[in-house]
Amino acid sequence: MSLRVGIDLGGTKIEIVALDGDGGELLRRRVATPRDDYPGTLAAVAGLVEEVERELGRRASVGVGMPGAESPATGLVKNANSTWLIGRPLRQDLQARLKREIRLANDANCFALSEAKDGAGKGAEVVFGVILGTGVGGGLVVHGKVLAGVNGIAGEWGHNRLPGDEADWPACYCGRRGCVETFLSGPGLRRDHHRVTGADLEPAAIAQLAAAGDGAGEATLARYEIRLARALAQVINILDPDVIVLGGGLSNLDRLYENVPRHWHRDIFSDAVATRLVRHRHGDSSGVRGAAWLWP
Ligand SMILES: [Zn+2]
Repeated sequence: MSLRVGIDLGGTKIEIVALDGDGGELLRRRVATPRDDYPGTLAAVAGLVEEVERELGRRASVGVGMPGAESPATGLVKNANSTWLIGRPLRQDLQARLKREIRLANDANCFALSEAKDGAGKGAEVVFGVILGTGVGGGLVVHGKVLAGVNGIAGEWGHNRLPGDEADWPACYCGRRGCVETFLSGPGLRRDHHRVTGADLEPAAIAQLAAAGDGAGEATLARYEIRLARALAQVINILDPDVIVLGGGLSNLDRLYENVPRHWHRDIFSDAVATRLVRHRHGDSSGVRGAAWLWP
């Protein structure tokens, strides 16, 4: 019987899940990430895999999801916010250590894959998965497989410039200005509310204000929804996905699923739009589950 293991290699924790052939969870475990310690990170990942295999008495396929990507040009990690992984041959080193082929993917791609396999996008041909959290990530799954792209950046929509006119274009850590992420991440929503009202509030507090009928809170969320609609319309015009699945903290805003599709029509080149905007099913578990699904 096939055993799939997925690893979510995050900046603060490393999580492992073992799935049976149908996606049922056999086991799940997590350890703290040895920050700024590359050999320690390798040892922690390998140790988790070995422990799980010993316990379940079977050899597993191993997929790893992480914030960042492997450069197809060099085989080295790039674009990772866990900076001690950047420039390292992570996949090769894990392969040598675990004596098998390892698949490595961006965590947003893993999110999209998990939701496409047995989550909110199940059965759809083309799924765009979006994480609206501390940052904004995106991943593409076409016919059940991650579309990585020749540069390893397919779906990296968070660093496109937000379409439309804005009063200011905030600087992004990537070196550009006005990236989608600077408006649509949690910190982006907070910054926008602060810019207009002078009040520095967490996104959840802004949502509470809006729900209670506060005009400024309502206006901030309305701006957010219009920007999200504009940004997603560009994706729809290019990719024309069946389903867009939202994850990350801001995906818990119920109103997005109704309001954003009302706005996106005006920017989409189609008489009718059948694309569905839906909330994730597996939530925080999607990263680790999607990593396991990197193997068929
Ligand atoms: Zn950027």
